[in-house]
Amino acid sequence: MLSDVEHLAEFLRSSRSTVVFTGAGVSTESGIPDFRSPGGVWDKVPPIEFEVFLSSPEMRNETWRRRFAMEELFGAARPNSGHLAIAELVKRGTVSHVITQNIDNLHQRSGVPAERIVELHGNTTFATCLDCGQRYEIQDLRPIFETMGAVHDCYCGGLIKTATISFGQPLPAEVMAQAHAATVACDFFMVLGSSLVVYPAASFPLNAKREGAALAIVNRTPTDQDRYADLVIREGIGVTLTAVLALL
Ligand code: ZN
Repeated sequence: MLSDVEHLAEFLRSSRSTVVFTGAGVSTESGIPDFRSPGGVWDKVPPIEFEVFLSSPEMRNETWRRRFAMEELFGAARPNSGHLAIAELVKRGTVSHVITQNIDNLHQRSGVPAERIVELHGNTTFATCLDCGQRYEIQDLRPIFETMGAVHDCYCGGLIKTATISFGQPLPAEVMAQAHAATVACDFFMVLGSSLVVYPAASFPLNAKREGAALAIVNRTPTDQDRYADLVIREGIGVTLTAVLALL
């Protein structure tokens, strides 16, 4: 009998093109909280919806206040052994794309080239103008906010917002298209640290299965998609991938 880790290694060894799908469970091992989990951040402080951000200067300020309050945490977070193992699999050519629900930039920092990362919920480590797309750095905006009590608008007149996708904000069509293309092209789809409850996350594993890919889910808690998976491992990501890499 193969152990779960040996089984996972076998899938990776025989795969021509693997897609990795990551959720909060990959980054909690770097100290980033799981905002969605029961008892998590959003149970105590509900997220501010996109429409509210657009319509209320006060709530925009509240959004920025919360973001800057998180800066020590995001700034201090480092890629963990799970991120590094994923980066190694990309480097070896086993993994074609990393589709992620995480917004913390840790896949990039672990060495995965940006063009191999599809960020479904955007990226909180910088900001952009909602109208013209101009990029702004968090460390430049923070002293302005702390002095003026607000973040100024873009020179084009548009609103500046962290490059994340808020509740009620449409996912960019090109991001969805990229994620879909990678999903249907792979022969092995590996879910890591996602409970797969949020749309569109829940749809990807089944799309991959429908196109003939094998499916593995590594997550500490059960997911609704477990019954479709060829392999389910209820373990931490870092410990599992480190053990798998040792076998490859
Ligand atoms: Zn602008």
